[in-house]
Amino acid sequence: MVRHAAPACRRATRRNGNVKPVSCAVVALAFCALAPISVSAAQLESLRLHESPEYTRVVFDTTAPVRYRAMVLENPHRFVIDFEDVSLGPAFDPTAVALGRDRVDGVRVGRRGDGYRIVLDVTAKLQPKDFTLLPVDPYGHRVVVDLYDTGARAAPRIVVTQPRGKRDVVVAVDAGHGGEDPGALGPGRLQEKTVVLSIARKLEAMIDAEPGFDAFLVRDGDYYIGHAKRRQIARDRRADLFVSIHADGFESSQPNGASVYTLSDRGATSETAAYLADKENRSDLIGGVGTISLDDKPDGVAEILLDISMDAFRIRSIEVGGYILEQLGKTTKLHKQRVEQAAFLVLKAPDVASVLVETGFISNPAEARRLNQRDYQEDLSRAIVRGIAIYMNEKPPTGTLLAWQREHGGVRYTISRGDTLSEIAVRYGVSAERIRRANKLSNDAIHVGQVIIIPAG
Ligand SMILES: [Zn+2]
Repeated sequence: MVRHAAPACRRATRRNGNVKPVSCAVVALAFCALAPISVSAAQLESLRLHESPEYTRVVFDTTAPVRYRAMVLENPHRFVIDFEDVSLGPAFDPTAVALGRDRVDGVRVGRRGDGYRIVLDVTAKLQPKDFTLLPVDPYGHRVVVDLYDTGARAAPRIVVTQPRGKRDVVVAVDAGHGGEDPGALGPGRLQEKTVVLSIARKLEAMIDAEPGFDAFLVRDGDYYIGHAKRRQIARDRRADLFVSIHADGFESSQPNGASVYTLSDRGATSETAAYLADKENRSDLIGGVGTISLDDKPDGVAEILLDISMDAFRIRSIEVGGYILEQLGKTTKLHKQRVEQAAFLVLKAPDVASVLVETGFISNPAEARRLNQRDYQEDLSRAIVRGIAIYMNEKPPTGTLLAWQREHGGVRYTISRGDTLSEIAVRYGVSAERIRRANKLSNDAIHVGQVIIIPAG
């Protein structure tokens, strides 16, 4: 049930003990006029909030394009949006939406003229940025307002302190899509954004547990981040590797299997790769980065440097992609037997090895079911970690603990469940016999928790 409160403006002023008309207190004003609409009776269907580290996204789902006026008011801080010529849909119930939120602590709805005024009580001064999004399954027309922090709450700088020459290999794990961009859709309203976040969280935890590795999530919640911002987050954290996780869809339900992609500026290596890159690149339009331009500037690196470093990082991307693909092939069916390349915007960081893993096709009902299962998500994550760990142990980035260990003979390794001596030997590129000798083992028996020395390869 919707509580039709007294007009929100009157309530707000009464609360403040202030009798001035609300319009005098307008601090920021945004006005959006869509093409004249002849058909009336658009409905407000629902109100949703997505919280991200930098802003809270407020989404109004409407049955048709609507006219609105958005503003920020002070004393107390609140965000006000007036919708003209709308009615409330039968399921519109914003009362619980603000519960337990960071920046929003109340929502009020009031009739105003032929439309409605909606007031969000906010906890601090926030900067609004509004725009509209066109329908994309499963969403319809949307009015979106991003409420940005205005500085005081800016995220603390992350200072990494690690012994020189023994730093961790840093891996950025990026769950594709999010928020207003659901990604590909599977049976039973299964959404790519949800499945890939679940896989990404498992992957991040597993990488983090590997000695000499430090992983973090680029997106850790149901909100959208633009391609450029995703790359920037990886570069700010000085990531050695950026892994973007997807589970894509196709028009037909036939295709299945996993595949791995890296960036190409010189055309795609296959039709599928071109198709997927094109599809993934639309995310900024679907998810809404607040701009409708697909223009993508380089990340502030001098052109010359970019050219030189890019080749080295491209090679590393293809190499690590190959290792991941090989391990995935032991766990699941592969859609493509080699690492494919296409112009994926999210992989464009010039100085971070970057790969995109399509974990499978969510449009294939059988694969969609598996992708949504915890065990299968863990199997996929384990395969990806194995690929990354083997590669990074073989070709560690300079200045890392892995590089130091490789140089100074001997990696300390703690046995975990499912490990075998022969598999560890393959992983570190040494013979099982050398591991046995270095650890004075008379046979291949090892146990969980045991620490062994892996001699330099
Ligand atoms: Zn995707």
